[in-house]
Amino acid sequence: LPDPDVASLTDDDVADLLPRPEAESDKYRRGVIGIVAGSDRFTGAAVLAVGGAIRAGAGLVRFASAETAVRQVRNRWPEAVTTVLDGPSVAEVGRVQAWVLGPGMGTGEEAVALARAVLATDEPVLVDADGLTILANDRALLRRSAPTVLTPHAGELSRLLDVPRERVEAARMEHVRRAVAELGAIVLLKGSTTLIAEQDRPVRVNATGTPWLATGGTGDVLSGIAGTLLSGGLSGYDAVSCAAHLHGLAAQAASTGISGGHGPIAAMDVATMLPQVIRS
Ligand code: AMP
Ligand code: MG
Repeated sequence: LPDPDVASLTDDDVADLLPRPEAESDKYRRGVIGIVAGSDRFTGAAVLAVGGAIRAGAGLVRFASAETAVRQVRNRWPEAVTTVLDGPSVAEVGRVQAWVLGPGMGTGEEAVALARAVLATDEPVLVDADGLTILANDRALLRRSAPTVLTPHAGELSRLLDVPRERVEAARMEHVRRAVAELGAIVLLKGSTTLIAEQDRPVRVNATGTPWLATGGTGDVLSGIAGTLLSGGLSGYDAVSCAAHLHGLAAQAASTGISGGHGPIAAMDVATMLPQVIRS
């Protein structure tokens, strides 16, 4: 019998949920996303997250980070508006409707202070990667006025819940539900299938994708896609559901050979394929 507390996510569900620009819309109304990612040491995750956001159709991407990461993002994505941060404040970044926090930002003292500043805002925040490590070390940061969306893989979720990774992997459905209850957030659990959970809603199962997605940087692209949809007005639950679905379809499109079969992809290929997938 089908479990009423579990729902699989279809192409039609996503097509119905995806926002389309109205004739009269402008970039600000379509959605401004703020991305706080990367550091002087790690710049690739930031470039990939910004790429996911832009290719998913953001109205405007505002990117804020240390100088080295900003320089890399600016070189690769002239579309983004960038801010070099000189302290743990996002006050100069400008108005945004949602934040993405974490990929490549590091977990040192400065990163923690910066994460605190983003989480203190009244906008929805999607937290991934190093941001999740920071949260695992201080769960009080999850007490916020606006929704928080977490996008862990099994290892990151095991740290958030303080449960061994093998136990999370052996019972993914149970642990994603537990994370929602204990952390008070919307949770997307990555893996060969992706589970999306929110309080009092069925756990959505997304099965698009390919095992070739298991490569560095694809998660960073996902965070950018989800952030764009969040800034465009979708709920956290719908934003990460649609993002996971589109991300998987884009990976399939990037991975498929000229006469069938599947092969390797680079994370940026997933971002590159997004517009085609959204058009379809
Ligand atoms: P991350 O762990 O942040 O690097 O993200 C990896 C991305 O690849 C997520 O979207 C995962 O759901 C996806 N992924 C990882 N392993 C697999 C797999 N074996 N099959 C399909 N997708 C995968
Ligand atoms: Mg990751």
